[in-house]
Amino acid sequence: MRMQGMPAGLALLLVSSTLLAQPAIAPDGDSLRADLARIVGLENDQRAETLLRIFRERGFDPEIGEFQNPARFRNSPATGRNLIVTLGEGDRDIVVGAHYDAILMRDGRISDGAVDNGASSVILTRVAESLRRHALKHRIRVVLFDLEEIGLIGSRAYVQSEDTSRIAAMVNVDVIAGDGVIMFGPTSHEGNEAVYRSLRLVCAVKAISCADFPVYPSSDDRPFQAAGIPNVSLAMIGAVSSHEFWLFLNAPGQSGLRRDFVPDLRRIIHTKEDTIERVDATAMARVHDAVVALVVELDGAL
Ligand SMILES: [Zn+2]
Repeated sequence: MRMQGMPAGLALLLVSSTLLAQPAIAPDGDSLRADLARIVGLENDQRAETLLRIFRERGFDPEIGEFQNPARFRNSPATGRNLIVTLGEGDRDIVVGAHYDAILMRDGRISDGAVDNGASSVILTRVAESLRRHALKHRIRVVLFDLEEIGLIGSRAYVQSEDTSRIAAMVNVDVIAGDGVIMFGPTSHEGNEAVYRSLRLVCAVKAISCADFPVYPSSDDRPFQAAGIPNVSLAMIGAVSSHEFWLFLNAPGQSGLRRDFVPDLRRIIHTKEDTIERVDATAMARVHDAVVALVVELDGAL
């Protein structure tokens, strides 16, 4: 929305007020966390079934993107299932993704997978619901990926099965713990400036602290990056943890951290410590709001 003769600053204010003026439909954190309680501790096939049920309760009829699993280890299943909700039409897609699978731990049991990544999976069911109320020029695909933990297999299968030239951008959400800072990256990746700019605008408008990570853990963003699709991966953790994590990943040898320092995120995820108690309800609600706003912003910017 740009009116003739309007100074750029005023135009930016208008964009921001558009974001601020979104109707008050945001879910509260407690209801998000209540849905998270339905999936933690389940085996992966039951996680999929429960997330399908949650989508259906909200009026969606998700498509199941079944794919062959080329991996042959840790009793991994022969096939995987991506859960896909499509909103609207439009010539190009914005994909919003999160993996729903939890990791099998060394003792053969499954992690509760709350922080990583049940919380984001539940958030995206509500992101779909919120975005349904917006008239967007892009087609939106909310995708819950399977088999991320054994090598980004679901997201790779998705990218391989799609016409990638129609994907305008991909937003990945992986890890929700404390209410603190949205971490995003890896900003050393090229081709993503428009997506980062939109995210920074959302952070400003929503008054959320956001930190760009040049080096950032691998997730389902990588197959999209490899296909040349603009993307960002984001997470929210507590402020202290996020700063420690930045130093740990991005300033090795000069971080001031103890030599044997292990970020608390590394001590939690992929272990039996990854429980729902680690997931802050307000963090879930704020990430929901930020992701909805980011998709709306990208829809206008791309
Ligand atoms: Zn994860």
